[in-house]
Amino acid sequence: MKLYNTLTRKIETFAPENKDEVKIYTCGPTVYSHPHIGNYASYIYWDLLIRTLTANDYKVNRILNITDVGHLSSDADEGEDKLEKGAAREHKTVWEIADYYIKDFLKGYDSLNLVKPNKITRATDYIEQDIKLVDLLTKKGYTYELEDGVYFNTDHFAHYADFAKLDLKHLQAGARVEFNTSKLHPSDFAVWKFIKSGETHAMRWDYLGRPGYPGWHLECSTIIHTELGEPIDIHTGGIDHIPVHHTNEIAQSEAAFDTKLSRFWLHCNFITIDGNKISKSLGNIYTLEDLKERGFSPLDFKMWILQGHYQSERNFTFDDLAAAKRRRLNWRNRIALLYQADENKHSNTFSKRVKLGLAPLSALEKKSFECLLVDNLNDNLNSAAAFSLIDNSELTLADWQKIDELFGLNLIDDTPDIPNSLKDLIKQREQARTDKDFAIADKIRQELEANNIIINDTPTGSIWEYKA
Ligand code: AMP
Ligand code: ZN
Repeated sequence: MKLYNTLTRKIETFAPENKDEVKIYTCGPTVYSHPHIGNYASYIYWDLLIRTLTANDYKVNRILNITDVGHLSSDADEGEDKLEKGAAREHKTVWEIADYYIKDFLKGYDSLNLVKPNKITRATDYIEQDIKLVDLLTKKGYTYELEDGVYFNTDHFAHYADFAKLDLKHLQAGARVEFNTSKLHPSDFAVWKFIKSGETHAMRWDYLGRPGYPGWHLECSTIIHTELGEPIDIHTGGIDHIPVHHTNEIAQSEAAFDTKLSRFWLHCNFITIDGNKISKSLGNIYTLEDLKERGFSPLDFKMWILQGHYQSERNFTFDDLAAAKRRRLNWRNRIALLYQADENKHSNTFSKRVKLGLAPLSALEKKSFECLLVDNLNDNLNSAAAFSLIDNSELTLADWQKIDELFGLNLIDDTPDIPNSLKDLIKQREQARTDKDFAIADKIRQELEANNIIINDTPTGSIWEYKA
């Protein structure tokens, strides 16, 4: 299996350190509002990663973290706390906001049929361990205290700039991080923040005799240490995490525990909408609910995401989403044809239909269809190539079962065989056509269409399909 490793900027052959288990950690969402489709894109890519590892017979041990704690709106340990902002907006407590949006996130997660992680952690459950980590960093001489918090001294960590290939000499104060005049270096970051007297910050824990809360990179280092142990095999996140969040995670963890944090780092690129960044000011923040209101299932969106590659920037348009929806329907109708193929009456028609323009599988290679699909995914998660293989192969129901296992598109579950009552109607309609009773035939066709079934008449009989 080959994956692009941000650590080396190379495509490398992946194998876990311990052959029995792949340890994976995914930085999760900050739960203060509905996630948009760009946020979910990353979890779809990592779902493909997990399913591909499983298809390679690896056992996966994966943590998905949820940031439910004071997490500031800029990378610079400054700005508004996102949860406080959500609480003010909705007249709720920060804890209610976190609980509500965790449920909301997981509802969307399930609707995309994403494999459940082995454990979902909440950052606020690890404060004690956070404090131990800050203590350890302080003991090892990596921190200094300022009026507003405890800071990590990036100058003491020799490889700080390596991961993101940062040019620290030319790092302008205010360019990557807002300038804090007291910090020793612009890239230094808070591992713990103090709450000033008079400041209303509902999430607070006592440390060093004062109320405060963890710096926002800390939770990932703490949770990886507590739940998985360094080094993990794969750490995933969005490309926005490379220069600050992941750089700081590496610095804290490696300074504290003297070992590599993760062997592989996978980063997904961003989704733009009609060529623009997803942002409130442009009014282009779409949620999964917005897509549903426009007649798209979350799985149509998953289909669209899997048509592309996690390392490419993707431009979302509703036209392209509609095309992905049609492609998914087309696949479901190929499954519907397989149900009909079991009936002798239709078997001739079926083979003619399915074979139309499609290469017989035996001509491809002697390998099983599943192996061919997995080969494509093992090539740095090339789902687009796997999809064209699906388009161009004659498949059995068992093959479609494998496709569902690999992509979680619910093709079979969303394509039930139709009830006998509808099959009887199809027969009655055929009889009416034979009897040249076209008024009845038309009436029955309308009734079938009302049940989302369309009928195609062929010389050997009628075939049903799901309506677009
Ligand atoms: P947040 O909840 O703000 O921490 O966002 C979670 C993660 O979603 C971000 O860190 C990114 O990795 C990812 N993300 C945000 N916007 C996009 C986007 N437009 N396309 C892809 N991923 C995104
Ligand atoms: Zn993280």
